[in-house]
Amino acid sequence: MLNNFKFIRPGEVRVRIAPSPTGFLHIGTARTALFNYLFAKKQQGIFILRIEDTDIERSFPKFERDIMENLKWLGIEWDEGPYRQSERGEIYTKYLKKLLSENKAYHCFCSKEELEAQRQYQMSIGQAPRYTGKCRELSPEKVQEYLTQGKSSIIRFKVPAKKVKFNDLIRGEVEFDTGLIGDMAIVKKTGQGFSPLYNFSVVIDDFEMKISHVIRGEDHLSNTPKQILIQEALGFPQPKYAHLPLILGPDRSKLSKRHAAVSITEYRKAGYLPEALNNFMAFLGWNPGTEREIFGLNSLVKEFSLKQVQKAGAIFNIKKLDWLNGFYIRQKSIEKLTELCLPCLPKGVDLNELKKIVALYQERLKKLSEITNLTKFFFKERLEYPKTLLRWKEMSDKEIKNSLDKLRKILSKIKAEDFHKENLEKILFPEAEKFAKERAGDRGYFLWPLRVALTGEKTSAGPFEIAEILGKERTLERLKQAKNKIK
Ligand code: GLU
Repeated sequence: MLNNFKFIRPGEVRVRIAPSPTGFLHIGTARTALFNYLFAKKQQGIFILRIEDTDIERSFPKFERDIMENLKWLGIEWDEGPYRQSERGEIYTKYLKKLLSENKAYHCFCSKEELEAQRQYQMSIGQAPRYTGKCRELSPEKVQEYLTQGKSSIIRFKVPAKKVKFNDLIRGEVEFDTGLIGDMAIVKKTGQGFSPLYNFSVVIDDFEMKISHVIRGEDHLSNTPKQILIQEALGFPQPKYAHLPLILGPDRSKLSKRHAAVSITEYRKAGYLPEALNNFMAFLGWNPGTEREIFGLNSLVKEFSLKQVQKAGAIFNIKKLDWLNGFYIRQKSIEKLTELCLPCLPKGVDLNELKKIVALYQERLKKLSEITNLTKFFFKERLEYPKTLLRWKEMSDKEIKNSLDKLRKILSKIKAEDFHKENLEKILFPEAEKFAKERAGDRGYFLWPLRVALTGEKTSAGPFEIAEILGKERTLERLKQAKNKIK
């Protein structure tokens, strides 16, 4: 059944990421995928992608696509799969039959209403809600009769009374008393027939796929004893478990949309780089035990160890991600960075001009998408800004006009081919000094109106670099437009 099941070496590390395609790739799932990937690669193991799509009402192909595309984009590539649970019905049926025939599972005919009433009652007397086991003792004849009548049913696993213990590679010894849970549902009925539930299908898949280590979020810790019980009932070996700490928002509650974007797609659209996200996600629960903060995927593979994964929740700090992203943006060549910024820049502009523009902002960019706003003034025919913006300190309209006239006069004498930063600086600085002389050395009286005329913004890169990119003609035109504002 496994489409690209390879020969398995004895002792081979085989791990998996098992997302349900009920939403876009979540940053928590991506973090779990990354840790599995690093763990596998470090030991020449195999990393498997399994799509847990048995919940047909909530699973959609668009989410499956999103999950796969974004894992690839992050560079977290799987060696086997994708396996889809929806295509493995026969396998689950085989094991279900085994459990039923060995009397380790049974049909339960209790109605939703009945179960709900039970639940309410148990809670009202301060008990944890769990199934009472009513249908456990139905005779085979009764079961057959109900089934023939077409009475709706689910299948429950007979939970034995015992203590389940396992050794979690991160959390240490975990013990769980099965008295706390009732017989759990493992298969439910749907319009299409029977559909296996998570704790059942996951045990069968982990066994069939020879998973050696189950590395997943701590939110699954309470599922583990349930899965172990099913493994034991089916005679399967137990994989090793490692439950990764939860990702928390700055207020220490579980990370949610309230705190930050949670889907990788959103981060990608905002202009975060995969290198930055991987580096950031690695530190959500792991640290190298040194001061080093920058890690590419390959160095993570070298350094990663489950021993360095903490138990305590990992706090999500977006400032750290921004800082890392800025770092990786600065590592890019201008060619590469421009290419990455292209979706955020207007179409049809000369690539060389775009490269110069992007270069101006490489130092200060934290996210690629910021390039749109930072540079939009380059691409406009006419800038919209209030004339008051042209005023430096207490300058009068007349003085602004005077500065603008002077600028135009000087700049119009420079040849178009000499319109570059160094030359402009050389020519304009002495003039700015003249203005500054009578005004406590403040060159703003000359250079501020220039910058605003060219950009329409309060903050921007330096005016000489901008003038160079705009070229002589557009620079003069913008100075003219600025002057026209002052009537
Ligand atoms: N489908 C489960 C999830 O998305 C997988 C949990 C597991 O790794 O066992 O949370």
